[in-house]
Amino acid sequence: MTRDPRYDILFEPVKIGPVTARNRFYQVPHCNGMGRTFPSSMAEMRRVKAEGGWAVICTEEVEIHHTSDHSPWAGGRLWDERDMPVLAKMCDGIHEFGSLAGAELNYAGLMAANRYTREVPMAPSHIPVASHDPLQARAMDKEDIRNLRRWHRQAALRAKSVGFDIVYVYAGHQLSTISHFLSPYRNRRSDEYGGSLENRARLLREVLADTKDAVGDTCGVAIRLAVDELMGPEGMTSDGEGRDLIEMLAEEPDLWDVNISSWENDSATSRFKASGFQEDYIGFVKSVTSKPVVGVGRYTSPDAMVSLIRNGVLDFIGAARPSIADPFLPRKIEEGRIEDIRECIGCNICVSGDNMFVPMRCTQNPTMGEEWRRGWHPERIAPKTADETVLIVGAGPAGLECARALGQRGYEVTLADKGDEAGGRLVGERRLPGLAEWGRVVDYRTWQISQMPNVNLYLESPMSVQTVQEFGADHVVLAAGARWSADGIGRQNPRGVPIGDGATILTPEDVMAGTRPDGPVVVFDDDHFYMGGLMAEALRKDGCEVVFVTPSPEVSSWTHNTLEQHIVQARLIEMGVEIAVAHNLTALRAGQAELACIYTDRTRVVDCAAAVMVTMRAPVDDLWDGLHAASLPSLRRIGDALGPGTIAAAVHSGHRCARELGEDIDDTVPFRRELPALADGFGT
Ligand code: ADP
Ligand code: SF4
Repeated sequence: MTRDPRYDILFEPVKIGPVTARNRFYQVPHCNGMGRTFPSSMAEMRRVKAEGGWAVICTEEVEIHHTSDHSPWAGGRLWDERDMPVLAKMCDGIHEFGSLAGAELNYAGLMAANRYTREVPMAPSHIPVASHDPLQARAMDKEDIRNLRRWHRQAALRAKSVGFDIVYVYAGHQLSTISHFLSPYRNRRSDEYGGSLENRARLLREVLADTKDAVGDTCGVAIRLAVDELMGPEGMTSDGEGRDLIEMLAEEPDLWDVNISSWENDSATSRFKASGFQEDYIGFVKSVTSKPVVGVGRYTSPDAMVSLIRNGVLDFIGAARPSIADPFLPRKIEEGRIEDIRECIGCNICVSGDNMFVPMRCTQNPTMGEEWRRGWHPERIAPKTADETVLIVGAGPAGLECARALGQRGYEVTLADKGDEAGGRLVGERRLPGLAEWGRVVDYRTWQISQMPNVNLYLESPMSVQTVQEFGADHVVLAAGARWSADGIGRQNPRGVPIGDGATILTPEDVMAGTRPDGPVVVFDDDHFYMGGLMAEALRKDGCEVVFVTPSPEVSSWTHNTLEQHIVQARLIEMGVEIAVAHNLTALRAGQAELACIYTDRTRVVDCAAAVMVTMRAPVDDLWDGLHAASLPSLRRIGDALGPGTIAAAVHSGHRCARELGEDIDDTVPFRRELPALADGFGT
């Protein structure tokens, strides 16, 4: 297939100072939970993106000096020359495919508590560090400022000799000391680095000039700036100082990489923001500079990309998440395979990996983070090892991905589901408020499967122990999923919640099927991800009085990992949901729920017509129990049927099953590890 000429504009080369990007696809800097901790994994992940057609591929934050140490986050490091080989490996992989490598140098200041180095952090003015560590950053004097400039310059020189083509001056996300100087609410200085915008921008201007002087002959020098901090006149605004600053420095950098801050605004989830949501803020930038501009907005549609270029909004289509969900997005557009694009669903499971200091994972792309350690390529997979048939029971995320990947390997696959719609848990969940984009997990896979003559999906096909046996497939894979429990068993109540006669209990499946109680509802959330909050939201939207009860000190606490917690809690408050945090549900009776404070055990009673239990899911295991006893030649469980978890985990489980079928897998440690190297000697 060849590319549609409408998209030719996306493949034009663009100059960034002394270097030229081969097309307009630009992977902006993004964290990945690998960085320096799992460097081979990080380098291979970036290399695969170059193979997939991204013309520019950047690092995550790269620490420039040991006095700004972001441990335990696994970013990049260029403290000295010993850090260079890791980033050189990344650059080599990127250059293999003719792409450019960009380094986002950063001095995080008050954002980094120096937990490893134990140095005292620095900031424009005395202030506690942003994490809740019992530690303050000290105000920088003139010598500190000179030192910071020198460290940045040295790091830029190291970046150049490592092989980077683009070097960043980072002033975004309130994550860098340069942005803290810029900030009217963090910078309380009265010298020439404080006060007016001109003064607050002095450090940015100086570091930019230093960087251009040091490496600008061969490297493009970029500024990454949050033009709006969504905090009104307290911060940068796109019609105030954000704009003034870009006008002031318009022609100084070789590229403007613009976004909004903080990170949770820049990486907003699809639950709360639509694709392209940043355009209102960054749309003006190109009108005040002749330098190329890159911006982001979860862009996955080539038509939208073309209109951004043609309408003069952007020169480069920036992407972090769309490049994670589909590292081959540019190649697919170039090859005229638009319908093969695996579109990001905006769930931020990727961010959760970084926040938990492990290689990031992706709901849509099960190979993310597995490129090096398991050798999984996002587009290629080993052919089948035998002419065999596979029956998969359950067309949820796990079964769909398993069928798709086995189909790609060439197996004859039958996928059976008792429902009248494919998607399993997502049949209901994609219809919850804000989760429509999550349906892409299903749509991408059902489309791919529909194109494979060797894979057949049968809906309204309930399978029993007998029908599975009669079917006679060489391999049986059970992807029958899990169902929410109604007994309250969970973390806080491992033996369940006492339920009296006449009490009405609902599960999330009941609510998703449309059941609405006649009276106030208690939503008991002992799960802590999105489902509890969404139950409250869906019920409140339909006019129910809702009391949200959780043993956690806050609503949907795990959503900190997806950068959503503050918005979820705000939404419930604004909708008029009554919130009882740090409370357990200790008993349910007809018309009443008993709650107990988790610290004092003090109880109180609330009226309720029903309670929705969001505590745990029980695997559907009737087929497993029956077939296990029948000793089939090849039987396995995947996804929620094996262990209920995230949709990302189910997709990964389905993919893994497909990769491993018919292969010899070493089950001691079934992937390559990056082991720490011992330094020489003992003692001092
Ligand atoms: P996962 O997240 O692991 O993919 P889901 O719960 O999303 O799990 O999907 C499981 C799917 O399995 C559901 O669509 C359900 O209808 C289907 N299923 C469960 N038991 C059977 C069965 N006996 N026969 C056919 N389909 C089944
Ligand atoms: Fe997109 Fe979710 Fe994948 Fe992140 S994890 S890239 S948000 S699909």
